[in-house]
Amino acid sequence: MTGEPGVTGEPTFLGLPTAPPGVGHLRGSEPFPAAARRALADTQLRRNLGKATSTIRAKRARVVGELPDWEALRQAGQQIKADTMRHLDRYLEQLEAQVTARGGVVHWARDAREANQIVTGLVRATGATEAVKVKSIVTDEIGLNEALASAGIHAHETDLAELIVQLGRDRPSHILVPAIHRNRAEIREIFLREMADADPGLTDSPAALAEAARQHLRRVFLSARVGISGANFAIAETGTLCVVESEGNGRMCLTLPEVLITVMGIEKVLPSWADLGVFLQLLPRSSTGERMNPYTSMWTGVTPGDGPQQFHLVLLDNGRTAALADQAGREALHCIRCSACLNVCPVYERVGGHAYGSVYPGPIGAVLSPLLTGIEDNASLPYASSLCGACYDACPVKIDIPSLLVHLRARHVEESGPSPEAVAMAAAAWVMAGPARYRAGQRAGRLGRLLGRGGRIRRLPPPVSAWTAARDAPVPPAQTFREWWRER
Ligand code: SF4
Repeated sequence: MTGEPGVTGEPTFLGLPTAPPGVGHLRGSEPFPAAARRALADTQLRRNLGKATSTIRAKRARVVGELPDWEALRQAGQQIKADTMRHLDRYLEQLEAQVTARGGVVHWARDAREANQIVTGLVRATGATEAVKVKSIVTDEIGLNEALASAGIHAHETDLAELIVQLGRDRPSHILVPAIHRNRAEIREIFLREMADADPGLTDSPAALAEAARQHLRRVFLSARVGISGANFAIAETGTLCVVESEGNGRMCLTLPEVLITVMGIEKVLPSWADLGVFLQLLPRSSTGERMNPYTSMWTGVTPGDGPQQFHLVLLDNGRTAALADQAGREALHCIRCSACLNVCPVYERVGGHAYGSVYPGPIGAVLSPLLTGIEDNASLPYASSLCGACYDACPVKIDIPSLLVHLRARHVEESGPSPEAVAMAAAAWVMAGPARYRAGQRAGRLGRLLGRGGRIRRLPPPVSAWTAARDAPVPPAQTFREWWRER
């Protein structure tokens, strides 16, 4: 083991409120409401999202409907994850021992900065200035590409959607389909602009775009000496890592380079092979709507003469132990990043991923991001939901996202002290507690009639302006009930 395992020098992960909050690309520059308002005005974005999410939803529903034991599988997934979280320290130490015994090296990173330092140091030690990457949200979370770039190392994204995002100098907007906000015409434009080797006659047919990416990446695959990946799962009992993907680019990155570096959030560990069987049924059906994903790559340490001859596993905390310390919130760590909750969410479908400001968008992002960073840094996200419950129904590991959102809203209210709403309610209670005060309040409220047009008040002055930012207020009646009663 290299690096420091935890804040106390020991790998003590359970119930550690002192673990530092998550840093990296987990929070945006503006709160969700402002970002969402801008996204809503983009009709092209809404068209792209509506088309893509409805297609994936239909595919998922079809393959899930084929399984008579789908609910039993969900139940099993939920229980395995809950057990794993309860004994996370034990499984992580077991994983470390097994990876080390098979010739791998395990590093522990408390946050994004430490993880980036470790990976940059490992790539530098090889003398390479380029690396190939498998699609990995956790490396997006820590901002690894930027950290490598500042050390003079170019990380080539090799997943088609990640490549589109990278070439477009864009940000991912979906867990599974990072370029979901782009249509084919926009992708063609990016390729023609950014790929020196692109055919000027390139069309926007999916086959032509995929072929252009394939040609572009071939040289990179064959010359890369370092591969970088995330991991979908890690098996504690054997030290085996697992990556699932659809394009085969991952298999190339995991097998061709001499050195393989895998960055993995500590919550991705599973106790045993038998557990993996459950998740390999749940994940592809929930994510791409396939019965089985086309490529499932697994490796255990180093095999002499076959594949990478150096393997490094970086185990990342970055706020996860703080999330684990939240008895209710820890359920969010069960997430297997399938993105089914995004595709069914009415909020996500209209505003897209960028509005959430974090690499984890949609319903699970609205829970996970504030848990990883601390609520005050992502305070608006738990409110970015209508609490309709579609995410809960779709989640393959039965994460009760609506209850977690309510839990985080309550935590936010408790941690931020008396809210304007609480102050307003206390004032209203005082006014209503005395008949004279109540009558005076009614007379004062009637001044609101001056602001009304057509029976509605469209804009109230501060401090109550937030009320009319998203809705109209009714104009107070000319006569109160008591006045009307007295008249008769
Ligand atoms: S919360 Fe559930 S549905 Fe959403 S990405 Fe995670 S596993 Fe998938």
